Amino acid sequence: MSVALSSNMLITGGGRGIGAATARLAAARGWRVAINYTSNAAAAESLVTEIKCTGGDAITVQADVADEAQILRMFRTVDEQLGPLGALVNNAGVVDVPADVADMSVARLQRMFNINVIGSFVCAREAVRRMSTVRGAPNFGPGYGQGGAIVNLSSAASRLGSPHQYVDYAAAKGAIDAMTIGLAKEVANEGIRVNAVRPGLIETDIHASGGLPDRVRELAHLVPMQRGGTAQEVAQAILWLTSPEASYTTMSLLDVSGGR
Ligand code: NAP
Repeated sequence: MSVALSSNMLITGGGRGIGAATARLAAARGWRVAINYTSNAAAAESLVTEIKCTGGDAITVQADVADEAQILRMFRTVDEQLGPLGALVNNAGVVDVPADVADMSVARLQRMFNINVIGSFVCAREAVRRMSTVRGAPNFGPGYGQGGAIVNLSSAASRLGSPHQYVDYAAAKGAIDAMTIGLAKEVANEGIRVNAVRPGLIETDIHASGGLPDRVRELAHLVPMQRGGTAQEVAQAILWLTSPEASYTTMSLLDVSGGR
């Protein structure tokens, strides 16, 4: 089995930025979407209202992906309100303010890896437990175990290293690349495809959250296409990877970075 049979999609960090663009596009293509957020309930709820107004179906589900108990609660909520998942988009992620490795605290490193790496691992684990053609039905009952697709948000930073900005973030995304490769091989024969998208400079709030609101405009000259990308352009790649059109695509690290 190579395609997701359930039309339910969970998007972590789905209330804003790339996650929100993915939720909009997914809903337009018939997915029922669970939009996870951690603190910005207003953004997630207004997105659900927007999706419902255009004929789609979506719910919000709060959880901090750095906290295992909250992830477990989020998956139980999705089980109860939507049913079996066909796709997980591991999108929630953070950067920190620019710093050299020589100046990084352990607290900073732990936050970076807890959210960006361990959060993605635990969400992938919970999705695999439900989607796997081997594990799903025995553990979760009828309707589970029909396979699915997992898309991890990596970054061009995993190739570039982000010196003097955030090597910690780049290394966390390097871990996501390795997790994508290993997990894809582990579950390839259990109906689950696992891929990553590696965006380049994309216009979202993430740059302001790291203290660099003009980062995309300032670095656009380094991009062969000479511009930043939009969240919609990344969402299109994510939706392709979750679709039956990508039925033979697993273990891919898809660069969406304007050639950078
Ligand atoms: P963004 O605009 O800053 O949005 C981040 C989203 O993640 C928000 O919805 C936020 O929730 C959520 N989030 C943050 N911490 C969380 C946590 N602990 N638990 C659950 N949700 C959490 O970011 P973005 O630019 O769309 O980035 C999305 C993904 O793409 C990230 O993994 C990022 O690393 C990756 N990426 C982005 C770029 C880029 O240039 N934008 C480039 C490469 C890769 P709230 O709304 O509740 O705050």
